[in-house]
Amino acid sequence: MIIEKVVPHHIRIPFDAGPASAARFGKGTTALDTVLVEVVTDTGLTGWGDAFAYACSDAVVAAIGQMVAPRVVGLAVPQLDELQGFSDRLQKQLHLFGRYGITMFAISGLDIALWDLAGKSAGKPLSDLIAPRRRSAIPAYASLLSIGKPDAVASECRKAVAEGYRAIKIHETTVEAVAAARNAIGPDMPLMVDMNCAMSAADAIAFATSCRPYAPLFLEEPVWPPEDYKSQARVQMNGRVAVAAGENACTAWQFNEMISHRAVNFVQPSVTKVGGVTEFGRVAALADRSNVRLMPHSPYFGPGLLATLQMLSLRDDASLAEWYYMDRAACLWGDALALGSDGAIRVPTGPGLGLEPDREVMVRYAVP
Ligand SMILES: [Mg+2]
Repeated sequence: MIIEKVVPHHIRIPFDAGPASAARFGKGTTALDTVLVEVVTDTGLTGWGDAFAYACSDAVVAAIGQMVAPRVVGLAVPQLDELQGFSDRLQKQLHLFGRYGITMFAISGLDIALWDLAGKSAGKPLSDLIAPRRRSAIPAYASLLSIGKPDAVASECRKAVAEGYRAIKIHETTVEAVAAARNAIGPDMPLMVDMNCAMSAADAIAFATSCRPYAPLFLEEPVWPPEDYKSQARVQMNGRVAVAAGENACTAWQFNEMISHRAVNFVQPSVTKVGGVTEFGRVAALADRSNVRLMPHSPYFGPGLLATLQMLSLRDDASLAEWYYMDRAACLWGDALALGSDGAIRVPTGPGLGLEPDREVMVRYAVP
């Protein structure tokens, strides 16, 4: 089977997140950008991938078209035992252009599509290519966008709980907001606090100390810059809270650095950023060897979310799927990923990623 074409598809689906906002992605953001990667083969089989996009969609589309596609079109689709070597070779070929960031987002998109193809060739879900499934549904947490006002944080938390979520993450950096969220959801439900690299180590330690009465499961990315693993380790040790990080790290190499600095209790690889399924799998194995918990980053609804669910189905370790809390105008997967009454999402059972994207939605929301 030969790779005939690698086609990026940029789509933009409007959303409504109530009082929450995605302003940090760009002023007035009210839509979620996704870049799907379609790998067309000479046999008629098509694989779907997902490259991290948001406000860098055009750059990612260019990276796929100009950096990735010319190096893989015409090659044989890698077999299961060739996927790791294929990824390593492409990473090496492209390292001059920036090893991480947009280069790796583009590589991630291709890698996910190749894993989808490997599953479709074998007639099995992606997870089955790696090991038997240990979960058929993954508990999801509602990942609230940044809100600010404690009252509004509390009401959105209550709304999410009423809809069936059994774990909540807020993107807030005030103790008042954390307290409001905890009071809204009660003492037993996991509450996570994502800080998006907002603070210095000293400020983050003080914040962690003040948050402790509200029992966050973890503080996510407490310090700037995200690669300052020493400071992150200090927050964990001196703030006496668990720390999660990893959405801004690429490849298992960076995760190894983070873990060896004792900078994290939870690692958060993002399959559309870290290097696809290949690197995600390496990070998961590294976490297991290092006694660090896995809690992936997946605030997106394209093939990357499906890949995340496939990988989480291999674990029964209470890892959760991140579900971006918003009403969207359309979904690529119909209602196949609806939240169950148990607060979990069924893992699709079709071959590869498990589902095919709705072409009609792709056309309707295409960005020209
Ligand atoms: Mg985050």
